[in-house]
Amino acid sequence: MQQGARHRKAARGVLWYNDVLMARLWTSETPKHVGKTVELVGWVANRRDHGKLIFLDFRDRSGVVQAVVSPENAEVHAAADKLRSEWVIALEGEVRARPEKMVNPAISTGSIEVAATAIRVLSESSTPPFPLDTVGYDIGEDNRMKYRYLDLRRERMKRNLLLRHEVTLFMRNWLAKRGFVEVETPILTKSTPEGARDYVVPSRLQAGKFYALPQSPQQYKQLLMVAGLERYFQIARCFRDEDTRGDRQPEFTQLDIEMSFVTQEEILQLVEELYVELVKVVTPQHHIAQIPFPRLSYEEAMAKYQSEKPDLRTDKTDKNELAFAFIVDFPMFEWKETEERWDAVHHPFTKVQSSKFKVQSSQEEFIEYIKQSPGELIAQQYDFVLNGFEIGGGSIREHSPKILEAVFEVLGHTREEIHAKFGHLLEAFSYGVPPHGGIAPGIDRLVMVLAGEENIREVIAFPKTGDGRDLMMNAPAEISAEQLHELHLEVLGEGRKSGELKKSK
Ligand code: ASP
Repeated sequence: MQQGARHRKAARGVLWYNDVLMARLWTSETPKHVGKTVELVGWVANRRDHGKLIFLDFRDRSGVVQAVVSPENAEVHAAADKLRSEWVIALEGEVRARPEKMVNPAISTGSIEVAATAIRVLSESSTPPFPLDTVGYDIGEDNRMKYRYLDLRRERMKRNLLLRHEVTLFMRNWLAKRGFVEVETPILTKSTPEGARDYVVPSRLQAGKFYALPQSPQQYKQLLMVAGLERYFQIARCFRDEDTRGDRQPEFTQLDIEMSFVTQEEILQLVEELYVELVKVVTPQHHIAQIPFPRLSYEEAMAKYQSEKPDLRTDKTDKNELAFAFIVDFPMFEWKETEERWDAVHHPFTKVQSSKFKVQSSQEEFIEYIKQSPGELIAQQYDFVLNGFEIGGGSIREHSPKILEAVFEVLGHTREEIHAKFGHLLEAFSYGVPPHGGIAPGIDRLVMVLAGEENIREVIAFPKTGDGRDLMMNAPAEISAEQLHELHLEVLGEGRKSGELKKSK
């Protein structure tokens, strides 16, 4: 009960569990304590010296309250005089209603102020490298990333993080209520094709061998269906070594879903219901352009909008309009001109629509058809689109090992390669595999759109730069010659020099 009540509260946007968490009063609650003495802990956002009176904007996670220090208490006044922006203090004071004309409607605590009776400095702060009380768009991004822990203090960034929390919390609770189980899948794993390069991690114990970081938990979630889990989800981190663009990051987060005994229609309906309710509860200021979400075939979308992720908003200047849509019936394969080979449009685990195969005869004939006419095949694949962004994709999976092998063959794998790369999956599918399918909507882009931001970096706590660097941690970085040796690695070129330098230190 307690848990449930807490979650409902959170879903409505109340994040301050003063009663549950600890005996701590948030600044946002101070208006409820008029006439009482309170103790607050937090940061000095701003100090204004008005001669005798000193005003402090006092900030904690919940917001800002004004504190006023009068000269009567010389000791407190002297302490307040020394305070500077971003110092961390404990503040004791009496909550007073402000006179009518002093009420500040711009802040939620604007009807009161705290008359300080004691100030204790918990830690001092160097002068921040940039202002923290602005939206911050004008500050160089390199600087914002280097001092991300300060950048996140700004109201806008804090709100983005809280929104993200509410979005994932809502998803978790909503899916759990429908019988979905969250399972963590490995980060150290083996390459799974999602169309990007892998990030690899050298193995110390297995010389010359490498793990790959998952481009998605695709194979694991399918194996969980073989395991009999039936309804799986995970707020999953995916890693793809691609050239980063505005709305891409080397690592990103998906709401990964897989279900057994399910049709494409049921998956789309589930996602539609989840997103309609999520918007209603978490960001009620938004309105959804069309419910049910429009469904367009890939062919239709291309013919009508020359795009597989059309922006279906009726008014593109309206920040609050959300135009969700599903694009269905994608081609199974596309011809890669430069590599002279067929590639899977989604991924190879996707099921080919056999209804498009006119001659309903044996599996052998169907397999022959797949091999002979890759360009004609339509997949049971769907994309999820929002305001012109692809925010997710999924498919019904091929669960027949024989058909899967044919798909891998079309992709140019030899029998040996198929068994080396995907033998585990084919074997698993020989032990009673339920028909299954799933989808994986991205969290970063969704939160970006809901927050009204233009870049996913604004809704990721610690994002990387366009060229994949973490400027705060200074990653990627060289490792020592000893570490290289342990990992059975030798670095060529520039990296080699720095390795040697480290060793000689
Ligand atoms: N693994 C796929 C992706 O990351 C999603 C899916 O097919 O469920 O795009």
